[in-house]
Amino acid sequence: MKIAIYSSQSYDKEYLGAAGKEYGYETEFFEASLNHKTAKLATGFDAVCAFVNDVINRQTLEAVAAEHIGIIALRCAGFNNVDLEAAHELGIRIMRVPAYSPFAVAEHAVSLILTLNRKTHKAYHRVRDSNFSLERLVGFDVHGKKVGIVGTGKIGQVFAGIMQGFGCNIIAYDPYPDESLASKGIVYVELDTIFSESDIISLHCPLTPDTYQLVNRNRLNLIKKGAMLINTSRGKLINTEAVIEVLRNKQLGYLGIDVYAEEEKLFFRDLSERIIDDEKIMHLMTFPNVLITAHQAFLTQEALTQIAATTMENIYVYSQGRTNENEVSGKNLV
Ligand code: NAD
Repeated sequence: MKIAIYSSQSYDKEYLGAAGKEYGYETEFFEASLNHKTAKLATGFDAVCAFVNDVINRQTLEAVAAEHIGIIALRCAGFNNVDLEAAHELGIRIMRVPAYSPFAVAEHAVSLILTLNRKTHKAYHRVRDSNFSLERLVGFDVHGKKVGIVGTGKIGQVFAGIMQGFGCNIIAYDPYPDESLASKGIVYVELDTIFSESDIISLHCPLTPDTYQLVNRNRLNLIKKGAMLINTSRGKLINTEAVIEVLRNKQLGYLGIDVYAEEEKLFFRDLSERIIDDEKIMHLMTFPNVLITAHQAFLTQEALTQIAATTMENIYVYSQGRTNENEVSGKNLV
C-alpha cells in the first residue's frame, strides 16, 4: 500500500512512518492540507490519510475519487469535516480513530484550568524578567468548586475523575446519560443548569447539528459571574461573538480554548510573520483572562502512538476488503 499523508507535521512523520513500516506500507508526507487541488498529489497512491481540519467536501471527494482512491483514513476522532453522503455516493470509505488516550485531552483541559487560574504562564515570564512581584496573580482554590461537564463520554469521564481528585463537585449533561456515573457521585442536570450553577464549565461533546453553537448568548447570560469556560472539543460549539460580549462585560471570568470556530485557516501553521486576517481571534487574544492553544490537546506520545497504530490498522482492514467499527457512515454532521 502507498499512503499519501496530508497536513503532516514532523511528529506525524515519526509516528505514522513507524506504524506504516510495521505493515510494510510506503508512506509519503505532504504538508499541504487535503482539498480538491491537492488531491492530485495522491496520483498513484492507494490510500489517503487526512487530519481534523482538512475540508473533505464533495469537491475534495470527487478529486480523490478521480485518483481511484477508495479510502480516506482520518487520523482523528471527529469527522464533522467530511461530507459523508458524498463519500458514500462516490464509494470512498471513511475510517477514523474514535478513541485514543482520553487522558491526553482531559489532562489538557485541566492544564488550561490551572494555567488560567494560577496564571503560571504570566509568572513564568515575570520571573525570567526578574519581576518577582505577585501583584495580579491571585487565583482561587479549585477544591470545592462546582464543575459542569457537557458530554460524559470517554474524555468527559476522565476529566470528571481528575476534577473529583481536586475535590470538585461534578454536575453533567448528556442526552445519553451513563447510569453508572451516579455511583461515582456525578449528578446529571439539564443543560441550562450546567451554565447557571457551574464555577467551571468544560465541553466534551462532539460537534453535531444539535451541539452547533450550544454556547450561545442565552446560555452565556445564565452563567455565574466570573465563571470559567473550557473548550477542548470543537470550536463551533461556541458562538464566538457572544463569548466576546460576556468577556467584555466581565460576566465570563476566564476562557480556555484549544479549538476555535475558524481554526481551519489558522491552526497547525506558523503564521508569526503574517498579518492575521481574523478579527475575532485577534480580539480574543487581547483579553488577559483568555488562554488559547492551537488544537494540541491530543498531542502526547501515547495518543500519537495509538492514532498511528489505529490508522494503519484501518487501512489494513480496508485493503483486506473488510470493515471495522472505525468506519463512519450516515448523514453528514455540521
Ligand atoms: P465520546 O463519543 O466518547 O463522548 C461524547 C459524548 O458526548 C457522548 O457521551 C455523547 O452522548 C455526548 N453528546 C452527544 N450529543 C450531545 C449533546 N447534544 N450534548 C451533550 N453531550 C452530547 O467522545 P470523546 O472521545 O469523549 O470526545 C469528545 C470530543 O472531544 C470529540 O467529539 C472531539 O470533538 C473532541 N476531541 C478533541 C481533541 C483535541 O485535540 N482538542 C482530541 C480528541 C477529541
